[in-house]
Amino acid sequence: MCLLLWASRGLWPTRAGHTIEKAALARHTYWRGPLVLAEPERTNYDLRFRLLGFPVRVHPWFWLGSVLLGASALDLGLQYLALWVLVVFVSILVHEFGHALAFRWYGADADVVLYAFGGLAIPSHTVSGRWRRIAVSLAGPAAGFVLCGLVYGSNEALGWVVAVRSRELAFVYGALVSVNLVWGIFNLLPVFPLDGGQVCRELCGMKWRGRGERISLQISFGTALAVVAWSIFCAMDRSNIGAGVLTGLPWWIPRGTIYTAILFALLAMTSYQLLQRTGGYGGGSDDRLPWEK
Ligand SMILES: [Zn+2]
Repeated sequence: MCLLLWASRGLWPTRAGHTIEKAALARHTYWRGPLVLAEPERTNYDLRFRLLGFPVRVHPWFWLGSVLLGASALDLGLQYLALWVLVVFVSILVHEFGHALAFRWYGADADVVLYAFGGLAIPSHTVSGRWRRIAVSLAGPAAGFVLCGLVYGSNEALGWVVAVRSRELAFVYGALVSVNLVWGIFNLLPVFPLDGGQVCRELCGMKWRGRGERISLQISFGTALAVVAWSIFCAMDRSNIGAGVLTGLPWWIPRGTIYTAILFALLAMTSYQLLQRTGGYGGGSDDRLPWEK
């Protein structure tokens, strides 16, 4: 399967012209690692449109990233690669609109940007309250699960994939269901800066206050390493090195690939670097938040 990289940076306002709280700004500049999640620069080749009142910008790298992810679809034909890009476009848009609509629900406006392997929903101002921020983070994967459920459920009820007898339609159906399900599950892992990582950070902050930041990064680091190990195991199992044990697992358990191994290795590195900047991996006595130091 493909990797995912739509991280709702979500809670860090960056739009010029808005008054930004000092702490939030410091947090924005603080959270940087190998994967920089700043808003990508504007180019002359951006595709821009408005949807449901939200400005949407599609960076040219989005198309390149989608093509790279779906390169194997070329084996079936060029039209399948085009359909794959369409599926990724719709899926990431739906995910980001989940975040954007949640921002609107809590009184913030939002811009949606699709970029390289993911997207961003950038709010006009911060949403106050941990539970509200958790709801915003969960809204993205939830939107994807709803889309997956609608596509899957409607076919279960009406059998439209078989009825239409189109290989292209069957391809779109399979891609929509698996992309939205598997990417949603990966996105809920407690790994920074994925949506699950944001939720974990808020929950740890609730339980351990100042120490929560560091604990959530430790969880993020450990989980990311576990995904790397799982991905390598899956990649080996698929090749003739492995024993083929994956074939006995339910289909909905996400299989890792060499791409997820690389992605989560980068995410583990990000968490590790951030841990060092918060007082060192394994803890310390300084409980202040990074931007308070
Ligand atoms: Zn998200």
